[in-house]
Amino acid sequence: MSKILIRGAKVLGGEPQDVLIDGEVVEAVGTGLSAEGAEVVEAAGKVLLPGLVDLHTHLREPGREDSETVLTGTRAAASGGYTAVFAMANTFPVADTAGVVEQVYRLGQEHGYCDVQPIGAVTVGLEGKKLAELGAMHESAAGVTVFSDDGKCVDDAVIMRRALEYVKAFGGVVAQHAQEPRLTEGAQMNEGIVSAELGLGGWPAVAEESIIARDVLLAEHVGSRVHICHLSTAGSVEIVRWAKSRGIDVTAEVTPHHLLLTDELVRTYNPVYKVNPPLRTERDVFALREALADGTIDIVATDHAPHPHEDKDCEWAAAAMGMVGLETALSVVQETMVDTGLLTWAGVAERMSFKPAEIGRAKGHGRPVSAGEPANLTLVDTAYRGSVDPAGFASRSRNTPYEGRELPGRVTHTWLRGKATLVDGKLT
Ligand SMILES: [Zn+2]
Repeated sequence: MSKILIRGAKVLGGEPQDVLIDGEVVEAVGTGLSAEGAEVVEAAGKVLLPGLVDLHTHLREPGREDSETVLTGTRAAASGGYTAVFAMANTFPVADTAGVVEQVYRLGQEHGYCDVQPIGAVTVGLEGKKLAELGAMHESAAGVTVFSDDGKCVDDAVIMRRALEYVKAFGGVVAQHAQEPRLTEGAQMNEGIVSAELGLGGWPAVAEESIIARDVLLAEHVGSRVHICHLSTAGSVEIVRWAKSRGIDVTAEVTPHHLLLTDELVRTYNPVYKVNPPLRTERDVFALREALADGTIDIVATDHAPHPHEDKDCEWAAAAMGMVGLETALSVVQETMVDTGLLTWAGVAERMSFKPAEIGRAKGHGRPVSAGEPANLTLVDTAYRGSVDPAGFASRSRNTPYEGRELPGRVTHTWLRGKATLVDGKLT
């Protein structure tokens, strides 16, 4: 078995230590470990984190392989420091049967860049009318634990209640894309001063907040667990904070872009800034950062949403919603949360690895960096600064809002169960 010695890394941002990998597991963590028989990775000054886990990724396969495949998406994930991603169900066909989720799961295993845990649809065809075969997807080889109609909201309260009741039996979770459909008909951007000035259809904060309020109450009523995707407003934060204070079993995520960008960018009419939920105001951005810091928001999830050129390079109204995010997520979190003093690297590990793995019950991921644990690790050069060049992305798509923007930090190495998937910034 091959041994790798990662020498002098700041484990979770702490004091420099050596980490010895033997085969698929971490054999030892300490100072002055022997390098005998091991390949040495000099890591002085770099931060070693547990492999990142993304609870919200769109891999697009099957059906939209022109924007991403399981292979290109998991290569993008490895580039960004991820060792596990949860793949959303809005593919073609929809991942609403055991057959589709097993196919996606197996592709992830075959390619070997990053574990892929499929998310099952809540309703058949994401149509919001009839519950999908949640039990069969859970029982399948993919072992689905997270269910979501993401891209669409489970807006029927009875269906949402049934889904929450159903997943309770096996400890699953429903991840809600909170968007009241009637309140967002024709919506193009956040409803506010900028939408009024630009004359674009507004997407009110209440469309998100009303669904979150309803769903935390439903979760409390049935005694089940609900996860809220991509919180984007200050009001949503207040509702989740209130629900947690009541002891309701709710978790929440925020995307990197909602921690950094605002609706002022829509003034450029560049569709790269068109996303669901929309970019909000500076006040919302600061509320989201504060909530991520104090634990009201549990995790960062990318909502990596690749789109081909032709679906984004058009006028604003016609453009698809979404941004790629796997390869820039950690840099944006460093910029907005670490370099601002809001989070330590240990706090980042909690919100981008430990906690998402716990919510999605990803076996072997989100584990401490200690002896006997699976060697799922990522090494970050936090002193690096550079501008984002989408031409270098491993993703098949290029729809990043950060092109040309200078961001801190760069993932140099990723190990999936001891196997290097990224070495010196290059995919293996
Ligand atoms: Zn969504």
